Amino acid sequence: MTLTLDLTTPDRRDAFRAKPSLAEKPSLIGLTRAEMGEALVASGIVPERQAKMRVQQLWHWLYVRGVSDFADMFNISKDLRAALAKHFSIGRPEIVEEQISSDGTRKWLFRFPARGAGRPVEIETVYIPEEGRGTLCISSQVGCTLTCSFCHTGTQKLVRNLTSEEILAQLLTARDRLGDFPDRDTPDGAIVPAEGRKVSNIVMMGMGEPLYNFEAVKKALLIASDGDGLSLSKRRITLSTSGVVPEIARTGAEIGVMLAISLHATNDDLRDLLVPINKNFPLNELIAACKAYPGLSNAKRITFEYVMLKDVNDSLDDAKALVKLLRGIPAKINLIPFNPWPGTNYQCSDWETIERFADYINNAGYASPIRTPRGRDILAACGQLKSESERMKKTERLALEAMMIAGHGEG
Ligand code: SAH
Ligand code: SF4
Repeated sequence: MTLTLDLTTPDRRDAFRAKPSLAEKPSLIGLTRAEMGEALVASGIVPERQAKMRVQQLWHWLYVRGVSDFADMFNISKDLRAALAKHFSIGRPEIVEEQISSDGTRKWLFRFPARGAGRPVEIETVYIPEEGRGTLCISSQVGCTLTCSFCHTGTQKLVRNLTSEEILAQLLTARDRLGDFPDRDTPDGAIVPAEGRKVSNIVMMGMGEPLYNFEAVKKALLIASDGDGLSLSKRRITLSTSGVVPEIARTGAEIGVMLAISLHATNDDLRDLLVPINKNFPLNELIAACKAYPGLSNAKRITFEYVMLKDVNDSLDDAKALVKLLRGIPAKINLIPFNPWPGTNYQCSDWETIERFADYINNAGYASPIRTPRGRDILAACGQLKSESERMKKTERLALEAMMIAGHGEG
């Protein structure tokens, strides 16, 4: 049993709250350059002829320097800073909770106000440090409309889509907390190369189906990869989908990030049960969309995620079928040990079964890392994220810890 270091003492909470937080003013975070220019001009504080220049300045402060308070933008006049602060917000969500796992994984619970987007929401974001990289797992929706039978998020109804601001704010706030923006004394204009960053990679693998919130996800990811701002390489951004076939080509053409497909089964009968969206977009259509993915090459492979469910999809015949199904697609296969949750009927495959499965697909020429479960002591693993409205009751949490101690699903 691992120990959770919980930093949410009352003092810390106050410290988080003391930071500039989101007010009921419109935010400049998550807008395209054109939208930001329009917002500045419409507010009456920036004349049209200055809009482009001001957008450039603000973009740098927001996305290179990571400031969350107009007062810190020292190359902008005091009057303009005050006017901007009166009209707009660039604050961060409230950090309700921050947990650090014994393996260094961090999980935050962020609270966003309602704004124009419906009701206030709380979402979890996870940071996973590894040798040579740090990955941030971002959510796109609160809850999910889909009902994959092995996924905890799938038991929760969709509360609402996140806005582009809320998607991007997960990255900005994580970088704040990790000290991942340039120091004040870093020369103006410095863009920190991805290799030197704590958050070097992002994966859209938190709560929700990103392709059911396409426009907001697209905007946020284009800002995250913008070369004059956050400048994460698109090769370091992975979008995971359960298989929303009609949006797959657009993802490649309009966003251009790496694609991951939650496959989990190699025949329609089983996939209909595990990933019910398969009934709308069956395997032959999904595979065709993957083969046609814009930019696909041996250097830019699609990752196929495959959750290992005991006696459901983990036989050697399944491994053979998987290799056959993916023939001809530049692919990586990511085997995910099933993460249990209270009330699930599934169990994780035995370790030997997972290794035998992995050996088969390795021998067939596929890189097939087994995703090591991370942050299990703080319930930060795939499929375990839920929003505050549906968070586990204490009894459920204890039941889950007992399941883990008993070894169910341990990788
Ligand atoms: N909705 C998107 C992205 C979020 S889920 C999608 O389905 O792809 C991220 C990954 O975690 C998916 O591959 C999903 O199938 C997997 N996952 C969900 N619940 C899980 C669980 N309990 N154990 C292991 N993996 C799980
Ligand atoms: Fe939604 Fe993805 Fe979970 Fe399926 S696996 S219910 S698509 S979050």
